[in-house]
Amino acid sequence: MTLPPLRPLPPLREVIARHGLSATKALGQNFLLDEQLLGRIAAIAGDLRDRPVLEVGPGPGGLTRALLRAGAHVTAIEMDRRCLPALAELGESFPGRLRLIEGDALAIAAAGLFAEPYAVVANLPYNVGTALFTGWLSGESWPPQWHSLTLMFQQEVARRIVAPPGDPAYGRLAVLAQWRSRAKLAMTVHRSAFTPPPKVMSAVIHIVPEDMPQGVSARTLERVTAAAFGQRRKMLRQSLKNLPGALAALERLGIDPRRRAETLNVGEFVGLAREL
Ligand code: SAM
Repeated sequence: MTLPPLRPLPPLREVIARHGLSATKALGQNFLLDEQLLGRIAAIAGDLRDRPVLEVGPGPGGLTRALLRAGAHVTAIEMDRRCLPALAELGESFPGRLRLIEGDALAIAAAGLFAEPYAVVANLPYNVGTALFTGWLSGESWPPQWHSLTLMFQQEVARRIVAPPGDPAYGRLAVLAQWRSRAKLAMTVHRSAFTPPPKVMSAVIHIVPEDMPQGVSARTLERVTAAAFGQRRKMLRQSLKNLPGALAALERLGIDPRRRAETLNVGEFVGLAREL
């Protein structure tokens, strides 16, 4: 089921031209204008009918209109005030369903904006994407207030998020994304789909929280992976030697200290953090 707008929406190109929304590199602006593609991205988030959604960086509102058509209640945080009149216009076509917040998403505590669990759906600005992502995944309290993340990243970052052990892309981001959530690469998006096209390909990641392993703090796990992958070419006995108790913990767990960080699976990192 889709929710039709009160009146037909103008093509996105017209919205951009009428509001003078030329893309600004400093704000990571690469806009998606293909409404079919935008509909497919919104669909990755699942059934959004009457569900609260946080969108970061709506820009001219392409993804926003796909989310609204899917029946979501969208809260959108946009830093570029030039986009706000175009977004307000879109909101008029979906009365009571679009809440606009002008500001820097890195400085706004999203959890305070919602009274119930929400989905995050965003074509993230590349320059802040990873910081927002680690923020959403790093909290000590779990499950988080969001029930899914559907996020566009540069393909190289997306690969680092879903990489398995042994993969050259496997590292801190993979462990962070996989130790208490399920992360999958849902779609790749060609650079030519964006206006202007970025230099690299993009991909959409979908993440849902799972149970948190008992007796492990997120901060300790982060300390372990920071040390281990900080010197990823070195053996663990070298890379972890400055982490108090780590070498004894390796021995207790029967993990060979001559192994390198990229060979440890997520469960082994969790076990190590638990021992510490
Ligand atoms: N969602 C639109 C689309 O799919 O076409 C635009 C995506 S564009 C890659 C990223 C958007 O994020 C831009 O509109 C930019 O102004 C906005 N943005 C950049 N940094 C931001 C920040 N720190 N907080 C909120 N929005 C930001």
